[in-house]
Amino acid sequence: MKSWALVDLPFFEPRHETVAATAKAWIGPGHLTRPVRLLEEARQIVRSFAGTGLLDIVVPHAERGETVFDVRAICIAREALAYQNVLADAMFTMQGLGTALIGLHGTSEQKSRYLPPARAGESIAALAISEPDAGSDVAAIATSARMDDDGFVLDGHKTWISNAGIADHYIVLARTEEAPGARGLSAFIVDAGTPGLSTAPIDLIVPHPIGSLTFDACRVPKSALLGERGQGFKLAMATFDYFRPSVGAAAVGAARRALDESIRRVRERRMFGRSMAQLEGVQAKLADMTVDVETAALSVYRAAWHKDTRGLRGSLEASIAKLVATEAAQRVVDSAVQLFGGAGIVEGGIIGQLYREVRPMRIYEGASEVQKLVIARSVLAGACP
Ligand SMILES: Cc1cc2nc3c(=O)[nH]c(=O)nc-3n(C[C@H](O)[C@H](O)[C@H](O)COP(=O)(O)OP(=O)(O)OC[C@H]3O[C@@H](n4cnc5c(N)ncnc54)[C@H](O)[C@@H]3O)c2cc1C
Repeated sequence: MKSWALVDLPFFEPRHETVAATAKAWIGPGHLTRPVRLLEEARQIVRSFAGTGLLDIVVPHAERGETVFDVRAICIAREALAYQNVLADAMFTMQGLGTALIGLHGTSEQKSRYLPPARAGESIAALAISEPDAGSDVAAIATSARMDDDGFVLDGHKTWISNAGIADHYIVLARTEEAPGARGLSAFIVDAGTPGLSTAPIDLIVPHPIGSLTFDACRVPKSALLGERGQGFKLAMATFDYFRPSVGAAAVGAARRALDESIRRVRERRMFGRSMAQLEGVQAKLADMTVDVETAALSVYRAAWHKDTRGLRGSLEASIAKLVATEAAQRVVDSAVQLFGGAGIVEGGIIGQLYREVRPMRIYEGASEVQKLVIARSVLAGACP
């Protein structure tokens, strides 16, 4: 990885240098033939994190009382991983998103059962919120969890669930009807293999393990309830406040890679009797790409620093960071494709791959339009970025 702007930003503590070095030094399992090997590659990536300490960042030792996320560390790790391999970034993050509610709100039994194996890369975690008719509108979730004497019975469908089919457990948001809309949802831990739970894969245009879940009279014990009944929506949204800036960090990593590859390409390529790097139009494009990467990084690490140090929710800053960085990454990678010409759209090439890989970042964990709503509502309510 090229020299990193990390040391030049004012937001970090000395420990963050170690995180950056560890994440940059991570070596994945290598490229396996797709698509049949995708799930195996995803599993191997999670296992390859074992012993690196990286998963300690997204799965803190909550069973020992450490519940606070170091958002700057999460962002640094995601930027470095996405620079190398966007799938690795996704697997890293899902270990956090699929356990955060347990760490923050679980019982001591839930924490000691689910967190150590996820942190060791021995089990795979997933978070199941989205449904066919409840994506951006999370409060429209229809999957039901009916309580009876023995526990809860889940019925319904989830879709776009990362790690569906390879996860060892799913954190599931379902309707328990304490109140209408968002106030009637609760969170549950559902183990893979629970009778009544089935999964089906969805093929995306990017290498990413994802699928749908069906709950058909799926029975879970009372001990599967995570946090208080009726609090599921609130708890899930608070979790996103920790992770949303890091989507921006992943976007910065992918964009920085595209920029570095472009610099290498225009230096090497000759056209019209000189180096492509000498063409002014090319230089202007590289300048725009650099400005996009650096302003996105500033926005991301500022949001992470704000969340770590200010003791506030930081929703406004997180939404700005996600919006700025994911939109910037799309522009940067598109420019990289243009600079590469035909070589930018070859199947299996790094630029064509990045072109596809940054696209979902503008959709998941709140589409860009949803981030704009959060930003506008925050400033209208008097918040000041
Ligand atoms: C790669 C990937 C991984 C994912 N992983 C998970 C996961 O692990 N768990 C999980 O629960 N979900 C996951 N999702 C689902 C993701 O969170 C949803 O795709 C996202 O919330 C958008 O929902 P939707 O796809 O149903 O689109 P819709 O809700 O139908 O939205 C479609 C579009 O409508 C527009 N829009 C939405 N709201 C507004 C508005 N208020 N004003 C104007 N325009 C608007 C936006 O352009 C948006 O893209 C994943 C998605 C992807 C692509």
